[in-house]
Amino acid sequence: CGIVGYVGFRNAADILLDGMKRLEYRGYDSAGIAVNNGSEVQILKEIGKVQQLEDIVSARHVEGHLGIGHTRWATHGGVSVINAHPHRDERGQVVLVHNGIIENYKELREELIGQGVEFVTETDTEVVAKLISQIYSVKGDMIASLVSIYERLRGSFALAILLKKDSDTLYCVRKGSPLVVGRGKGEAFCASDVPALLPYTQDIFYMNDGDIARLTPQGINFWSDKGVSLEKSSQRVDWDL
Ligand code: GLU
Repeated sequence: CGIVGYVGFRNAADILLDGMKRLEYRGYDSAGIAVNNGSEVQILKEIGKVQQLEDIVSARHVEGHLGIGHTRWATHGGVSVINAHPHRDERGQVVLVHNGIIENYKELREELIGQGVEFVTETDTEVVAKLISQIYSVKGDMIASLVSIYERLRGSFALAILLKKDSDTLYCVRKGSPLVVGRGKGEAFCASDVPALLPYTQDIFYMNDGDIARLTPQGINFWSDKGVSLEKSSQRVDWDL
């Protein structure tokens, strides 16, 4: 399973698919991407190999400079296109990918159903998209909403999140599951592991459990799980490809 995220000036779908292939060694059963082109978020998913997803993406007009990609190792919900990531809230405002397991997803799901929220997948992940959407609609601030997410979610998670209304910002959080962030000139990346990013940047930040990252083409900012701004330094990774 793996996560890739991109924001910058290149065609996001190309970067995502390339990064996902570089993470194939981690194992997976299905794959998907979401790309925000400024007016809509296109979500494409497929069972099987990244190559099969790529065939679908090539046949469609998928352009945009912000996107997230995912290779899924199903833990909650069978292997199906609908259960493949990315997942979204009901209005398609919050779109995310997730590696890990949300241990209290049943309670959260019941709570949201009690409030009238409808679910379309069997995954633990869909709960996270709908919970973030609900918290964000109250708080109006993503960093504050992600602080709340750390309070509400039990289990392990790496998440890359985009908002439909914001085509130049990507958000990342992690607890337990791996996630790194990379910085380029006028672009930024995230991925489950460094090899996905090395063709594009060697300027890598390792996210610690509890970190919140906001990625834009202009730069990367970090906060703690309490919402306190963090100064993190990057490491230059010189790996041979
Ligand atoms: N628990 C999530 C699911 O089953 C994420 C699995 C993963 O890490 O790929 O969809």
